[in-house]
Parts: sequence; structure tokens; C-alpha cells
Amino acid sequence: MKTFKSILQFAKEFDTDAKCRLYLEEQRWGGTPACHHCGSINVCRFANNSGVFKCREKQCRKKFTVTCGTVYQDRKLPLTKIFLAVYVLGTHSKGISSLQLANLLDISQKTAWLLNHKVRAMLKEGEKELLNGEIELDETFIGGKDSNKHKGKRTGKTPSKSLITTGISLYKKDTKTPVFGILQRSGIVRAFKVDNVKVKTLLPIMVDNVTKDSSIFTDEYVGYQKLNEQGFKHESVSHVKLEYVRGNAHTQGIENFWSILKRQINGIHHFVSPKHLQRYCDEAAFRYNNRAKAQDERFAIALTQVNGSLQWKELVS
Ligand SMILES: [Zn+2]
Repeated sequence: MKTFKSILQFAKEFDTDAKCRLYLEEQRWGGTPACHHCGSINVCRFANNSGVFKCREKQCRKKFTVTCGTVYQDRKLPLTKIFLAVYVLGTHSKGISSLQLANLLDISQKTAWLLNHKVRAMLKEGEKELLNGEIELDETFIGGKDSNKHKGKRTGKTPSKSLITTGISLYKKDTKTPVFGILQRSGIVRAFKVDNVKVKTLLPIMVDNVTKDSSIFTDEYVGYQKLNEQGFKHESVSHVKLEYVRGNAHTQGIENFWSILKRQINGIHHFVSPKHLQRYCDEAAFRYNNRAKAQDERFAIALTQVNGSLQWKELVS
């Protein structure tokens, strides 16, 4: 697949549902269609160009298309419009608002909002490998007031000893939603919406995502002070003492990602409800993790992560 110079060129390449379907078939099956119901490759294509296949296995005999079991299943929109949405969300540097998407695709804002979330669900990282090497950990808060952040994270940073001694108690329960981030310095980030930033919440996420022999870098937040006891090699810098870099110890990579995530949320969407925040984190992480790849490659990756479907009722329930 070639790189597209403009969205117009992209729209021209995928101007019919048949072309989109052929592309999906190639991406998903690589030339060997497999039955959605039983997995057999003993299948035949209907000759009417509808994209419908039939399984030849005696015990199955069911019909399927390439979109079965994916976010494209039961779609009310043509594939051409969904492809455009994936292209824009997966390759745009900051994403796009529902209003912009509605105008671009000539659909209602409600449909655009749903489509935006469906595509975000596709951008979620699939099979995850353990991260290793030099790892930065940090937490941030999305939404709410600056005065409710822990002191080292306020925009007008105020050095405070109470942060080191009391830690968690400085996080006030309110409108802010905490997000925990793990960044492997070679360039992979993962962000998790969490209920709180207590050790018992963050540590299991760490263990699930990072190998024990990694070197961990954090700020002085007390939640991280038990990492050495857990067998991780851990160094921290003290932001409250205005220490940001000490040799290799810093958290500038993950802080850079937080600013990308916040620019996206504040600049494009203005408000994001905690319920949907994880999907916005996945969207920002997808762009960050694939930033070195060419546009067409990012599009192909986004399109192939099509398993599972997200329904309107799941979004609004
Ligand atoms: Zn079958």
C-alpha cells in the first residue's frame, strides 16, 4: 500500500465498499480466508461480489464476511466512511473531534461520536509484551482543578516536604481522574486509568507490564518507594526539591507523553468523562508508539486491530 499525500488521495483509493473489503480481507487473512465460526480454511466465496463466504465443513456450513466479529460488524455506515475515520484518527497528530469528524464524513454528531470511540477501541494495544530496560513511571490527573493535584504536580510547583512524608493523603478525592503511565525509554508507552494511585493499585500493573530486571525511574512520590523491596532497581528524582534530572534518573519521557495526552484532550475534546478516558489514553499511546512509522503503516496496524466490537449501548450505559 502506498503513502497518501492527502486525505483526498486516500478517499479516492478507497472509494467503494468493495475496495475497502478487499483490503480488509488481505490484511486480516493474507489471502487465506478462514471461517469466522469454526476457523476452517475450507471455504468458498459467493460469486456475487457481496464479500460473503460460506464454510464448506459439513458440521458448519455457515456464512460469514471479513467484518464478522470486528468493530465493522452490524455497521450502519459504509466501510468507505469508517476507513476515512480510521485513517484520520490513526494518522492525525492529535486526533479529531466528533464535530470535525461529523463534518468530514457528512454524518450526525452522535454517529461521529460513536465512530470515534469505535476507532479508539481499535487503537488499543493487543497482545502486550513485558516492557524492559530503562523504564519511567509516573502518574497524572486529567480534568478538575490544579489545587487538587499533589503538590509536585501543580503548575505553579511548590516545594513541599509534606509530599515526601504523607504522599497519598495529598491526593484529594474529587473530579480528577488519575492515570498511571509506564514508558520504556526505547519508545513504548502504556497509560492506565486507575481508581487511585495507592501502591496496591499501581504495583500489580507494574508487575503485569515490566520485567523485574528493569531499571525504574520515578519522581519522589511515596507510592514508588517500595519498588526496591519488590526487587526492582529503582532510582528517583525529587521534584519537590526542584531536582529534575540526575544522570540517567529523570521522568522526562513520560512527562512528554502526558503533555501530548493533555494537549489532545484539552485542545481537541475539551472535556472527557472518566468513563471513556481509557480509550483516549489508548488513542494517544497508539500515536506515540507508532510515531516513527509511515502513515500507511499506521493505518494498516489500526485497521488490523479489529477484533471485538463496541456497541452504542456499551458507550452510553
Ligand atoms: Zn465453519
